[in-house]
Amino acid sequence: MNQIPMVDLKSQYLNVKDEMDAAIQGVLDSSAFVKGEAVTTFQHHFESYLGVKHVIPVGNGTDALQIALMALGLKPGDEVITPVFTFIATAEVVALLGLTPRFVDVDPYTFCMTAEGVEKAITPRTKAIVPVHLFGQNVEMESILRIAEKHHIFIVEDACQSIGSEYKFSDGMVKKTGCMGHFGCTSFFPSKNLGCYGDGGALFTDDDALAETARCIANHGMTVRYHHDRIGVNSRLDSLQAAILDVKLRHLDDYIANRRAAAAFYDEALADIPALLTPRKNAHSTHSYHQYTIQVPAEKRDALQLFLKENGVASMIYYPIPLHLQKAYDIYGYKEGAFPVAERLSRVVLSLPMHSELSDDVLAYISQKIHAFWCE
Ligand SMILES: *Cc1c(COP(=O)(O)O)cnc(C)c1O
Repeated sequence: MNQIPMVDLKSQYLNVKDEMDAAIQGVLDSSAFVKGEAVTTFQHHFESYLGVKHVIPVGNGTDALQIALMALGLKPGDEVITPVFTFIATAEVVALLGLTPRFVDVDPYTFCMTAEGVEKAITPRTKAIVPVHLFGQNVEMESILRIAEKHHIFIVEDACQSIGSEYKFSDGMVKKTGCMGHFGCTSFFPSKNLGCYGDGGALFTDDDALAETARCIANHGMTVRYHHDRIGVNSRLDSLQAAILDVKLRHLDDYIANRRAAAAFYDEALADIPALLTPRKNAHSTHSYHQYTIQVPAEKRDALQLFLKENGVASMIYYPIPLHLQKAYDIYGYKEGAFPVAERLSRVVLSLPMHSELSDDVLAYISQKIHAFWCE
């Protein structure tokens, strides 16, 4: 068996090569590299896919989060609740805007923030909650939305890892990830579920006024050309990336189906190793398996990772350090022990290869190697 990577963007490209090459050639022919028609076309297709009124394409997922928080008009010192077990970008934009991140611990099985955790973290200064739909499944949104409504708090969903997943409310209503709060944000980083061939991102909302504000902020705070009504940023999705995304969007549901099939394979193949915990599903969410993350006893985790590496299988630790223990975030005064679940997860998690092009042969090989490690 050759080296088995975490993601395989090359095979994914080769499987749609004709379609993709034509889309890229189309942008080259038009030479409208910025704000071209390809951007608006993708925007509208993505709006239909999500079932949301406005998609605002931007430069990357981090920008999407930042622009969303800026559009809500939050003031320095306002508190924003974020989970402590996530990629740094979620809290980084909060800190950059002079807002105060208020961390909460996560559920030990779904890796997501919980309504109980959020409720306890609310203070009179709480202005926003950023639920992170980590690894591909949605946070228990119904209860969090209820809390937010009760306290008049904004919700900005970090859906950078969860595109392709859905959440079902108790009345039967189904919403796509990122379409439940005031804003949803996503990233088109190449390895994300819907990824481009460089950097890209988007925020989305059903609110006309918020959409207009976000669009304005993303474009230097400009309303009429060279009239700047607010301080903005420069963040845009370029036409090549939009054309690439438009091709991939057509295949997204198939890509997600392949990820789910790979996850089901792992679930079954690893079920008979009692020491391993396979990812648990949140009852009201579908899972788009951005990551397939198992929990391995702490004393065995790094040895398993090394054993897999020696056998040509990549794996990753998402995330080795919870946000409150990151050096740059010392300033907020959190100490070790403050978030025991996230601290434990950082010592036991291991993400296995997961992408849209995994074959049963490769999955069987990876699973055999994990069994071999356990039987040594
Ligand atoms: C990838 C990611 C981001 C940031 O996206 P970029 O496009 O890399 O800026 C933010 N939050 C989470 C949870 C992510 O996984």
